[in-house]
Formats: sequence, structure tokens, C-alpha cells
Amino acid sequence: MKKARIAIFATGGTIVSSGDSATQMTGYSIKGLNVNDLIAAVPQLTDVADIEARQIANIDSSSMKASVWSDLAHAIEEEARRDEVDGIVVTHGTDTLEETAYFLNLLLSTDKPVVLTGAMRPATALSAEGPLNLLNAVRVAASPDACGKGVLIVLNDSIGTARDMTKTHPTNVATFRGPDLGAIGSISGDRIEFIGASAKDHTTKTPFTLEKLDLYLKTHGKLPRVDIVYSHTDDDGVMVKAAVTAGAEGIVHAGTGNGSIHEETEPALFEAAKAGIVIVRASRVHGGAIVEGLERWQQAGFVPSGSLNPQKARVLLQLALTVTKDPTAIDSLFRRL
Ligand code: ASP
Repeated sequence: MKKARIAIFATGGTIVSSGDSATQMTGYSIKGLNVNDLIAAVPQLTDVADIEARQIANIDSSSMKASVWSDLAHAIEEEARRDEVDGIVVTHGTDTLEETAYFLNLLLSTDKPVVLTGAMRPATALSAEGPLNLLNAVRVAASPDACGKGVLIVLNDSIGTARDMTKTHPTNVATFRGPDLGAIGSISGDRIEFIGASAKDHTTKTPFTLEKLDLYLKTHGKLPRVDIVYSHTDDDGVMVKAAVTAGAEGIVHAGTGNGSIHEETEPALFEAAKAGIVIVRASRVHGGAIVEGLERWQQAGFVPSGSLNPQKARVLLQLALTVTKDPTAIDSLFRRL
């Protein structure tokens, strides 16, 4: 059988970070390792695929920026258009990996596998899991079974969807889980077993494309500003007003329970909605779908986030606002994607 050709794009993260000793598991940083070191650490990669690698960024993903998303999306689209390339792997810090993955899941126009991976332990740590995660990500990207499943997240021998996986533990290697749709597959040695898929539209079936986004960025300069406002006891709307003042075009309200809103905050959200800012009601609750709530919220055009967590709801709202400002149209995108 012909060996697969896989393009690897590196963006940084713990997978290329170094500590001062083999037992240092936090407080490490990126100290000069790059994509070449990553690949050199896993000679077995070449048994699985012919590899091409490129450094897109080398940052801690807690400082991820939309400009890196754009560079990454361009690099992936370019490779995906080449007939000889079978799949793409992106190495990324785990902190915001789910956001980048979901952005790509909404934007890319390819059915070829695109797999994000990273590591929880720095490259210098005892039992660093980055090398095996990278090998597994390449195995999945090389698998024809991974085609058409949307952007995937591979860590700790599990395969999950960009839409559903979220980081659930600050240090444990078993951090990526889906609160509702769990792993859709697993990797054991060279055996890849898929057991499910997302029912939501992705990649080639969304209204977003890189071409359209580039046009938008040409006229607007940047993605629409969307702030996340996290609700709590004694909430009073100050953060909503701050978001409005900062020029937010959308606000994701991470409410309590079923996207509930503190009575002191409600007036600020109503006012923002009246001014044309799109309000999405998400929740601090990890799991389940946020659905319609009080009638006055629907009347104000607040959009329930469904099963998207606040940070993913923010990604979808940013992209949605590049094509429409109409809350009803945005609501249907939230149901579909
Ligand atoms: N701080 C790291 C990051 O870049 C965490 C990790 O990669 O696991 O997100």
C-alpha cells in the first residue's frame, strides 16, 4: 500500500516546551524547541507517512490570536488542495486547542482529515506523552476512515470532534473529553477504531469559507469583537457595559443553569441587544444544551448556545457576525453547527 503523505503544522504549546528537570510538570516554557525537534523525537512517524512540516507559530496557546488562526487556515487549505497530501496534523497548546479546532471545523473546505494534537507534559518530562500523541495524530490523519468527519482532536489515545471535546483538567493527560458526545474513536497501537461522529454540519457544509473570510478581513481589518461575560452572585451588568464600550458586536453571556441571567444584569443585555449587539445565552454548566428560557429573552432576540460551551459559542458568533447581524439567522446557525 502507498504510504500516506501528511503535512504537519506546528503552533507551539507544551508539546515543544521544556522544564528544568524531568519532574517539572508546570511552570515550564517554550525554550527554542520547534517542529524539527518534534519530528526528530518520533522516528516512527516515517513508518506511517511521508512527512512535510512547517512552523506556523511557536507560542503558548493561552496567548492564541486570530492572526495565527488565519495563517493556519491558509496553510491547511493550501496543503489540502494538493492531491498528493492525504491529511493534516496541527500541533497546538492544549489551553485553547478546542477553540482553534472549532474555528477550523467551521471554516475549512476539505474532507481530508485535519487532526489537532498537543501534550499536557513538557517534552522534558518523565513520561512526556507528546511523541505518542503526535504519532497517533499522524496515524489518524493517514486513515481513510477519518475523512469527512470534520476537524478531530487526538490526545491520550482518544479521538474526539472539534465541536464536542473540551479541556477538562489543568494537568492530567486525560484532559480532553466531550461532556455529551464523548470520544468518537480510539487508537490502540496502529489500530484505529471509530465508534461515532458528530451530527452537526462542519467543514464543507458550513456557510463559512476562507475566501469569504479574507474578503471580510480586507474590508473590516479583523474579526468582529465578541466578549464572554461570566455570570456570578452579585453580578450587576458592569461587565456587559464594559464589553459594549469596548465595541463588542456580540456578547456570549455565560449564565447560570439554562443560560439564566442575573436580574441586575438583564437591563444591560436588553440595552445591548436594542443597540444591535447579538447576545448568545451560554452557560457555566459543563454539558447539556442551553435552550429557550424566559419569553422576554426570546423576544429580545437572545440566541441560546445549544451544546456549545461559552468559548466555542464565541468562535461561532464571531464567524456568524461576518455573514449576518440578524439574531434569527444566527440562531439557525447555532442549531446547525
Ligand atoms: N500552556 C500550554 C498551552 O500552550 C498548555 C499545553 O499545551 O498543554 O496551551
